[in-house]
Order: sequence, then C-alpha cells, then structure tokens
Amino acid sequence: MKQPDTEPLDLTAMQGMLQRHKKRMKLNLAACAGCSLCAESCFLFELNGHDPRYMPSYKVLNSLGALYRKNGRVREEQLHAMAEIVWRNCVLCGRCYCPFGIDIPAMIALARDILRSQGIAGLYPHSIGEPEEDNEACCDHSERP
Ligand code: SF4
Ligand code: SF4
Repeated sequence: MKQPDTEPLDLTAMQGMLQRHKKRMKLNLAACAGCSLCAESCFLFELNGHDPRYMPSYKVLNSLGALYRKNGRVREEQLHAMAEIVWRNCVLCGRCYCPFGIDIPAMIALARDILRSQGIAGLYPHSIGEPEEDNEACCDHSERP
C-alpha cells in the first residue's frame, strides 16, 4: 500500500476510470431515492446496531458518489477514509436489495478499483473477526488485493 504523502495521486487515471463508467454511475447515483430500504438487507448494518455508516446507500454515496461529484478531485486522506468504507464496512456479499434496481455491490466494487488505481487498498476485518484493541499486535490484519 502506498504511504500517504509519498507519491502524488494519479488524477488522470482516476478521472479516466470515472469517465469510462460515467453513464452507469450517473444512472445509479441519480436513481437513489434515499429511502433506506437497502439497509435491512445488509447484515453488517444489522450486526452494527443499525449504525447508518453501514447502510449500503451511505457506503456508495460516500465513496463512489463523492468521487463522481468531485471528478476525483479529493484529498488523499479522503481516499483513505473511502477505503475504510468500501473494504472495512462492506464485504461485497451481494445481498443488498434496492427496489430501484441500483447495483450497490457493483458501485462499491468500482470504488475499490478506483482506489486501487491510486495504490490504496483496505482490510477485511469482518472476515477475521473485529480486532480488539488489546490484541491488535497478534491479530493477522492480512491485506488482500
Ligand atoms: S440504494 Fe436503493 S434502497 Fe438504498 S436508499 Fe437508494 S434507492 Fe433506497
Ligand atoms: S454487498 Fe456490502 S452493502 Fe451489500 S449487503 Fe453485502 S456487505 Fe452490505
């Protein structure tokens, strides 16, 4: 994983990816009515006490949605915050249901691809159990591609 502030972000690569997927992104993002019906189909939302940060729509709007709105012109720390959202708070299980037909996992997967183009990737703590503060040194925080 690229260390923060050691290399400039590749805005051209990011904007190229956004442009290539613009039509699909635009349709999906515009179709979201903010109804929150997708929330109950996400097991992580249920497991985390209905924390709104685990709502599928929140995850899309605050990752890919933000990249789309700003055409990739975001700060590196914002990209790292997005990595937390799209890796830590989603396992791409594909169970979320949107009555408007928004393909939430595809949108989150695209956000991951864009972050990877910047050398940024996240962790999957839910696949190994949430690390406890005291046990962090002995936990296997494996990074996956
Ligand atoms: S993604 Fe679909 S179900 Fe979720 S808030 Fe948007 S419109 Fe509603
Ligand atoms: S794909 Fe992500 S947002 Fe959708 S149900 Fe699975 S964990 Fe939740």
